[in-house]
Formats: sequence, structure tokens, C-alpha cells
Amino acid sequence: MKIGVRDMFYKMSTEETLEQLNSSKEGLNEEQIKANEEKYGLNQLAEERRQGVLSVFFSQFKDLLVLILLVAAAVSIFTGDLESTLVILVVIVLNAVLGTAQHFKAEMSLNSLKKLSSPLAKVMRGGHRRGIEAAHIVVGDILVLEAGDVVPADGRLLESYSLQVNESSLTGETESVSKITDAIEGNVVLGDQDNMVFSGTQVTYGRGLAVVTGIGMNTELGKIAQLMNETKERKTPLQVSLDAFGKKLSFIILIICAGILGLCIYRGMDLLDSLMFAVALAVAAIPEALSSIVTISLALGTSKMAKENAIMKNLKAVESLGCVSIICSDKTGTLTRNKMTVRDLFLAGKGEDSKERLLLSALLCNDSSVTDGKVLGDPTETALVEYYLKEHGENYAQLCSRYPRIAELPFDSDRKLMSTLQQIGGELVMLTKGAVDAMLHQASFIYSNGQERPITQEDIQLAQEQNHAYSEKGLRVLAFAQKKLNKETLELGDETDFTFIGLMAMQDPPREESKAAVADCLTAGIMPVMITGDHKVTASAIAEEVGILRPGQRAVTGMELDEISDQQLDKDIAEIAVYARVTPAHKIRIVDAWQKKGHIVAMTGDGVNDAPALKKADIGVAMGITGTDVSKDAASMILTDDNFATIVKAIANGRNIYSNIKNSIKFLLSGNTSGILAVVYTSLMALPIPFMAVHLLFINLITDSLPAIAISMEKPKADLLQEPPRRSDEPILTKNFLTEIGIQGLLIAAFTLAAYYQGLTISTATASTMAFATLCFARLWHGFNSRGKQSIFKMGLLTNVYSLGAFALGTLLLFAVLLIDPLQSLFQTVDLSQGNLTYVVGCALAPTVLIQLSRVIRELTQRKTNEVK
Ligand code: ADP
Ligand code: MG
Repeated sequence: MKIGVRDMFYKMSTEETLEQLNSSKEGLNEEQIKANEEKYGLNQLAEERRQGVLSVFFSQFKDLLVLILLVAAAVSIFTGDLESTLVILVVIVLNAVLGTAQHFKAEMSLNSLKKLSSPLAKVMRGGHRRGIEAAHIVVGDILVLEAGDVVPADGRLLESYSLQVNESSLTGETESVSKITDAIEGNVVLGDQDNMVFSGTQVTYGRGLAVVTGIGMNTELGKIAQLMNETKERKTPLQVSLDAFGKKLSFIILIICAGILGLCIYRGMDLLDSLMFAVALAVAAIPEALSSIVTISLALGTSKMAKENAIMKNLKAVESLGCVSIICSDKTGTLTRNKMTVRDLFLAGKGEDSKERLLLSALLCNDSSVTDGKVLGDPTETALVEYYLKEHGENYAQLCSRYPRIAELPFDSDRKLMSTLQQIGGELVMLTKGAVDAMLHQASFIYSNGQERPITQEDIQLAQEQNHAYSEKGLRVLAFAQKKLNKETLELGDETDFTFIGLMAMQDPPREESKAAVADCLTAGIMPVMITGDHKVTASAIAEEVGILRPGQRAVTGMELDEISDQQLDKDIAEIAVYARVTPAHKIRIVDAWQKKGHIVAMTGDGVNDAPALKKADIGVAMGITGTDVSKDAASMILTDDNFATIVKAIANGRNIYSNIKNSIKFLLSGNTSGILAVVYTSLMALPIPFMAVHLLFINLITDSLPAIAISMEKPKADLLQEPPRRSDEPILTKNFLTEIGIQGLLIAAFTLAAYYQGLTISTATASTMAFATLCFARLWHGFNSRGKQSIFKMGLLTNVYSLGAFALGTLLLFAVLLIDPLQSLFQTVDLSQGNLTYVVGCALAPTVLIQLSRVIRELTQRKTNEVK
């Protein structure tokens, strides 16, 4: 292909374009695909070059304090004790290695999430329709485009059936553009190239076929992406607030350390040693891991959620997930199984003819297809085909080709109708199916004995009564009609003056797990709300069955909702559990009304028109199986099983992730506080410093990483769904939270000092060894306290093996440093007597014993009060 030709495809005819690209409407063959893939590469936007291992590793040293420490250690190699400065260097490097590993672990889980939500595309290849990964599209491929798809590459249109595309992502124009196939003369701008489709734009209506003219960075989207390649991944609100808190905290710690440095020098300690000690204290006390703990917890949590069928598209949404207080859910497919079966027919007129016509309409006004005996497509429509095959068993393909389709008006949830124009015998007949109310209003005739006769009031009443009877049983009802036309095209205005044929009633039972999931919502303080395009009576029947519609609550239709003023809705909204016959625009109003009341709303949606409501909701939930690309694009969560129960599980996970993050932070901050408090105390009391610089760095290495990550692996606890949702504006660092950190820190510091005093009776070196050992060991034990609010007996020691592992490894390393000779001198520890070692173990255990004891007492008294109740 010549450079520059690419831009001119809109000027060529469809035949010229196909010839130029060596393609045809049947699509490319295997060889061509392979050749083109080699020539042009994958259909992907070039990603910003990722940071390499080395650069991530070195960025761990960018911290000013670590640099000071490095310099101090380097200088003291020449002046002081060579061994311990080397150890300091090694420990810092190990810390950096751990930091680097954490960075890549987080990045890897994020990437695997991105892959999970990467789009599929539909193409024609070798005469067959195929679903392939969008990345493997090549120039010359034939794209099949349908309402709801995101266009996967740039292309020249070959066919357009009322195809409309929203190109706002490229042109900023919010109105959809109607697409044509004719060549365009002269030079026109992107927005006017109406016979082209562009990567990243959204098909909002109709169907079409296009030949791919550009992929990857060679698309219009690619050109823009090149300009915007600099964008960085943004931090979540939690990370932002923790960063701010961390900065403040670091400032305070630096002042304390400066004070301590001053005191050390004043008391005549060696300058370099004082500096090294003060800086090591700062490094150990500043919780540099806060922000990365959040990333790791969120990333680990989301990969777990993905295994449980909920894919989160960004980390920010995970944070608000735990705050969700309202779930607005579709009925069909989400609360119900989406396995429909036709249960009954109702014929408007008389005679075998009527039934035949009803079945034929059901088969022809239908977009499902049969492949290898399997019926594929929208469940509402596959049910109709399955019913036809059961009744007639005729060759499906043969039948469809006997009555060719000339034109169509696709189904949308605003009209709630779908029409096709078929050649039946010598006549052109429009067949329409859809919601009973939307059709009966427009019916002028009925089909009876093979004839059309004017419809009477009685006919209408009979049909409405039948519709009501079906709906009360929770059946989904479709009406069918026809209309003879004398033209080869269809427009929306044609959907009037129908000849009513009859009704079909389908059953779609609730999913087994829906009822329990709804009950879980209610105990968790979350209100489930059903929003459906289906009939009010059908919707209410299902809603009652699963427990969404309870006494004192009611169902309203979209029309009734239009009559309710905003003020009235504000008052009534808590009573309305079911919205029936709604359009996507109503969804936005419902989300808005709840949000105004301060609620965090999750909203499901599957169609193109649902995208605005999904964006407006705090958590937009798209359907992985039946949802359109456009809805997946707009959503922040995708359900791979389309199941309501999965939303509830995801919320529980969201709550759990948040509480794990809180617990990790509590663990880190209380431990750091204890170290600082012990040093401040000895400094003020003019006692020898309790820790060597290596000690502090060792503690930082052992206790800051693994135990904190182990806490973020904590599984959801049973009582997670027994509390009301957290308020979204609740800060993580509340007064209670900080008080608890203070108390726990104080407790550990007190016992560390007890061990220190015991050691002082022998020597400063023993005191320092004992203080170090106690602080380190106590913080390892403290990891168990930090797993949750409950006592360890209630949580179970074995329910988090990671925390056991982190404890075991830490303990092993600590005792190696305390007991093994070469390590002893490297880490500046001395031999402890049997008695003193026991003393250390006792002091290290004491804070945990006290904390656990207070919890056990609380749990016992709580149980008592519960029993009294
Ligand atoms: P929901 O998914 O909440 O059940 P829909 O918007 O899919 O709502 O459907 C609303 C109504 O439109 C249905 O009750 C049915 O009468 C009608 N309908 C649904 N699917 C189709 C279709 N494929 N063709 C024609 N009418 C349909
Ligand atoms: Mg639907």
C-alpha cells in the first residue's frame, strides 16, 4: 500500500477500496491474514514504555533519607566499624529489592486485569463470521458492526443498514452520525467522512459491514493517542489522602529525629554515629509503604474479584464499591436466568392460519442464528426460534431463505419494538414484535382466518386481559403484528396501524442465588432496586419472588415516574423498589435522585443507551455476556456471569479490601509509633540509645513488608455484610483509628523499655540487644492483632496462612540474628542469658496478650447482652 492512499478511501467506491486492499466481502483467507499481520503488526495502540527493572530499583533510592543514610554509611566505612556499615548498605539494598518486587507484582496484576476486559471484535473471514480479539484484526479484514459495538479499527463501509455511529471521542460531536456507503467527492474533514468508521467510536444504531483500512497507531485514534501518550496513571482518592497524611507525618518525624540528633551530639556521641542513628530512625519511622500497600491491596483484591466473576476496570472504583448503598439492577438476565422458554400462545384471530402466521413472525422478525443445531442470539429471540423448531422441526435455514429480509428496524429499549421487512409470497410484509402496550395502541386490524379485519374494542380488551393474566404469573409477554407495505425500505414512522396477530408468553425464572443475594443486601444495609423494560405486573411478580418488592413498597412505571415531580420523588424514592417499562433516560433520573440523598449507587446496564446512566452511577455495572461494548466501556465493573449475586459478592470484597487496607495501615503506624516512642523516652531520660542504626533498618525490613501484605490477604469475614455501608466521605484516619494506633504503639513501647531496663542492669550492649529483640518480636506478634477487630480465637489462627508465614519467617530471621555468631557481630547483638531471652519473649508477647484479652472480654460481654436481648 502506498503512503498517503490511506486517507483517500472515502473518495473511492466500495469496489475500488476492496480491490486496493486485496479483500472481498467474504473476508481474507488465512495466508492473507498472516501476511498482513506480519506486515503491519498488531492492532494495538503503542503503550507508554514501561519502567524497566533497573530504573524501578534505582527509584527506590530516590528518597532523600535513604540517600543521606547511604552517604553516611559510605563515609563511616573509612572512619568507623566497617562490618556494620556494610550491613546497613546490604539492608538498604534488600529493602529496595523488596520495593521493586512489590512494584512489579502490583503492575502484573493490573495488566492481567486489563487483559481480562480487552474487547472482542466480529469479522468475516473466509466467508464465515468469527469473533476474534480486537488486537488481531488486520488491514483488509471485514468488520461486522452492530449497535452497541465499539469500532475496533478504521474502515471503509461496504454496507449500512441504518448504521449510526457516535464519534464524540474523535470529533467532540455528541450527535450520532448516519453512515453511508457511497463515495464522497472532494476533500472533507474527518467528521464528514460519512462512509468511514473510526477506531474507538461507538455504533449506536443499526448494522453495517466495513473493510479495515487502518489499524493500531495508524488509525485516527492512534494519531491522537500519540499526542496523549504522556498521561500517567492517576492515584485513587485513598492514596491521595494517605500521601497527604504521610507527608505531614514525615515532617513531624523529621523534627523529632532532628531533635534526637541534637541531643545525641550534645551528649557527646560521635557525629557520624548520631547522624546514622537519627536517619535510620527516620527511615524506620516514616511509613513510606502506605501508598504502595494501598495499590497492592487493591490489585490483589481485584484479581481475587476477577476470579469471582467481577472485573474491576479501575482501582478507584474498588474504593467506592464498599460504600454502595443502592443497587439498581436489571431484571432480565441479572436477577433472572435469561434462559427463556415459550410457555403459551394467544391468537388474536381464528384459524390454523393465525397460529402459522404468529410462528412465522416469531421466526423471521428475529436476529438469532442457528449454528450446528445450537440457537445463538438474544435469549428473548432464541426462545422463539427454539419454540418454532420444537413445533415444526423444519429446516431452519431453508425456511429463512424462502422469505428473504429486505430491511429492518432494530430493537431498542426506548421503542420496545423491532420490525423487519420480509418478502412473503409476492408481498412485502413488515413484521413487528415488541411490548404489548407499545403495539396494541397502534393496532388497527387483526389477523384472522388468513384475512385482515378491523380491530374492535373487545379484541383489545381480550388481549389485554390475557396479557395481564400472563404477567401475573411472572411471564414475559411479546406481541406480534404485521403490515403490508409497498416499498423496499423501512422507517420508524411505519410502525403504526398494525395488524395484530397474537401474543407469546415466555418464562424466565429467577436465578437460584438471587433470593439469598437480595437477603444479603438487606442485612448489609443496601437497598436493591429493580429497573426493567418489562411489564409492571411481570416485574412485580419476579420482584416479590426474590424479595426486592416487600410490604410497604411499590412498583411504578416509566410513565408514572414522568408524572412525579422531583420533590415528590425525593420523598417517595425509598418506597419504590421496582421501576417497570422504563427507558434508559429514566435510569439517569433514578440514579440522580438517590445520589442527591447522599447514596452511593451501583447501576447495571447492557444496551448502548445505558451508557450515560452507567457513567452517572458511582459504580456502573456492565454485563460481560450479553452487554454491548459501549456499556462495558462506560462501566467501572463488568460481570462475567451477568449475575446479580456477583454484584453483592463484589461489594463484600470491596468492603473487605478497604478494611484490610485500614488494618495494614494500623499495623504499620502502631509499630512505627512504638519505635519512636521508645527512642524519644530514652533520649529525654538521658539514657543510652536503645537501638543501633542496623537494628532499626532490620526491623523496617522484616516488619514493614511481609506482615503488612499478609494482612491485606485477609479473607472476607462473615460479619462483613452485617453492618451498614461505610459513608463515602468518612476519612480513613479518624480520631478513634489514631487513638487505637497510639495505644497499641504505647503498649509495645512500654514493654520494649521494660526489656531495655532489664538489659541495662548488665550492659548497654545487652540493653540494646534486648530492646531490639523485643521491639521486633512484639511487632511480629502484633501482626496477628492487626488482622481484624475480633480476637484471634474468633478469627482463627489458620484462616490467614500468609500472616502465619510472615510471622514464621520474621521470627526465624530475628532469632538467627540473635543467636548465630557471625550474624551477631554483623547486626551488633550480644549473647543473652537463658533468663533474659525468656524475658524478651515475655515482653514481646505481653502487648498481644493484653490486646487479645481485651477483645475476648468484649466479645464475652457482647454475647451476654445479646443473650439478654
Ligand atoms: P429488560 O431487559 O429489563 O427485560 P428490555 O428493554 O430488554 O427490558 O425489554 C423491554 C420490553 O421490550 C420487553 O418486555 C419486551 O416486550 C420487549 N422486547 C425485549 N426484547 C425484544 C426484542 N428482541 N424484540 C422485540 N421486543 C423485545
Ligand atoms: Mg433486555
